[in-house]
Amino acid sequence: MSKISDQHKDVLANLAEASKRAGRMDVPDLVAVSKVQPDERIVAMIETGQRIYGENRVQEAQQRWGETFAAHRKDIELRLIGPLQSNKSDDAVALFDVIETVDRVKLLKTLTKAAEAHGSMPRLYVQVNTGEEPQKSGVLPSELPTFLKAMREDYALQPEGLMCIPPLKEAASPHFWLLSKLAEQNGVEKLSMGMSGDYDMATEMGATSVRVGSALFGERDYG
Ligand SMILES: *Cc1c(COP(=O)(O)O)cnc(C)c1O
Repeated sequence: MSKISDQHKDVLANLAEASKRAGRMDVPDLVAVSKVQPDERIVAMIETGQRIYGENRVQEAQQRWGETFAAHRKDIELRLIGPLQSNKSDDAVALFDVIETVDRVKLLKTLTKAAEAHGSMPRLYVQVNTGEEPQKSGVLPSELPTFLKAMREDYALQPEGLMCIPPLKEAASPHFWLLSKLAEQNGVEKLSMGMSGDYDMATEMGATSVRVGSALFGERDYG
């Protein structure tokens, strides 16, 4: 339990230091990625005062934050950081405060419909496939202007930010650089980038939120 609190303190200290190194006046928001983590670790993390959590799967998130930790839900900002199937749009709109993985027009359509029924729309980030990996979700960099135009003009939706997951086997910094360039060119304010291995570098490169799992909670046990 104290281990979680130590790890939380360490990550916050690293974020503050990286911000200082970069001459930033602000520090990125810390999104604690709770996917797959056992309940004891979540309890310990909630006790640190950590308020923003990220989840990969709608159903898992519903169980964790809609059932097991439902009592804490109102104090917590919940973000979807994994791919969203359009048939889960209703559930996602009802559960999440932020959806970081908007990446196709079909989703704009189903999310809009879900938001009309629900009465409010989560804040939205557009995921960009900066590495142009065939198997990865995200809008291709070259298609981003067209996608944002459709989002803004056809659906009257304002993207809060851009999000990327750099290819596993490449240096992350060129991807962070590209994402920040794309945000600037397209008038998008926020940047969700950086995970356990590179959140300090992402902070130096302008991340406004970092998504950190294992460095906060310990390794995930998929077994
Ligand atoms: C799992 C996950 C993370 C957290 O990864 P760690 O390396 O454990 O920090 C961040 N972002 C996304 C999109 C993820 O799926």
